[in-house]
Amino acid sequence: MDDYRSKSWWLETLPHTITPNPDLEGAQKADVTVIGGGYTGLSVAYHLKQINPDIDVRIIESDVCGYGASGRNGGFSMTLFGLTKGVTKFRFNDEKAKSAHQYMEEAVDYLHDVITENHIDCDYERSGYLLVGTSPAQVKRITHDFKIMEKWGLGGVERWDKKRLSAEFETDFYKEGWFEPRCGIVNPARLARGMKDLAEKNGAVIYEQSPVKSFEEKATSGFVVHTEKGEIESEYLVFATNAYSILFPELKNLQTPAFTYIVISEPLTQKQCDSVGWKCRAGIEDARDLIHYYRLTKDNRIVMGAVMSVSDMAET
Ligand SMILES: Cc1cc2nc3c(=O)[nH]c(=O)nc-3n(C[C@H](O)[C@H](O)[C@H](O)COP(=O)(O)OP(=O)(O)OC[C@H]3O[C@@H](n4cnc5c(N)ncnc54)[C@H](O)[C@@H]3O)c2cc1C
Repeated sequence: MDDYRSKSWWLETLPHTITPNPDLEGAQKADVTVIGGGYTGLSVAYHLKQINPDIDVRIIESDVCGYGASGRNGGFSMTLFGLTKGVTKFRFNDEKAKSAHQYMEEAVDYLHDVITENHIDCDYERSGYLLVGTSPAQVKRITHDFKIMEKWGLGGVERWDKKRLSAEFETDFYKEGWFEPRCGIVNPARLARGMKDLAEKNGAVIYEQSPVKSFEEKATSGFVVHTEKGEIESEYLVFATNAYSILFPELKNLQTPAFTYIVISEPLTQKQCDSVGWKCRAGIEDARDLIHYYRLTKDNRIVMGAVMSVSDMAET
């Protein structure tokens, strides 16, 4: 059996060894089949059960829930979508960009509620999100987004000037700051495993270690999904396979690759924390196009990550 905890540091922090659920065997029937047990699949199952407990929803996961990006990400709960507000507004229009931002605010608040109401043990800290400008171009970008927020008549964001940033981080590297107190940080793997428990508590059935090999649409209506040892026939089929979708020939052309990675330090000693000088525990990103981001964990490790373009990857 695979030792899933060794796949990422976040998975390693789970309090127990991961014992996979039974795999899918034999011919089954359901109302909804979900392929993939990350945040998307687990959330679909949980919410369908919330809407109507009689819906028979089954998740098929190739490894274990949280094995994909949901168990290995930066753990920022934030309102970010697409690129800057300015670019989104330019590409679509004011109304769509504004409602996308408001939707993300609701999503961040909703995640807070789901975690707290269901006591999901995922080191959640509502410590905020800070976007920093470290160069004239980045400051210009943030200033432009503040103007857009003002025009939209939206609050929820504080402007942190150089003085405030210097007081919080003991640095003059940050020139301009966009701080959103509603945002936070989580341990992503604990959140994913907590969402698995929540989905199951609400009646969803989850098969693990059951890679889906193929699927077909029935001539009448509905779908049949096949694994090595079983199959499920259902009226509806949800692909929640994220980056792995490319492995399904039918979905291959719907994806564009982007590359992102994170690294993590050893826990900082109190002396090291003091020398770094951070007082603020918000998740931080800089305002370049393809971002750099960093944050602290519960035990004061520094997690750092970046998003890279395909051409950046080719150069490294
Ligand atoms: C390094 C990194 C940092 C990130 N940081 C952040 C962040 O700070 N904040 C944020 O909001 N987002 C972040 N993201 C993005 C976020 O992690 C993803 O958007 C989110 O986890 C996607 O969830 P998902 O359920 O769609 O996909 P996944 O979690 O990838 O789940 C897909 C699941 O499908 C399963 N699967 C695949 N193929 C099959 C198959 N054939 N049969 C059955 N199961 C299958 C996989 O095993 C996997 O468990 C980051 C991503 C990465 C990679």
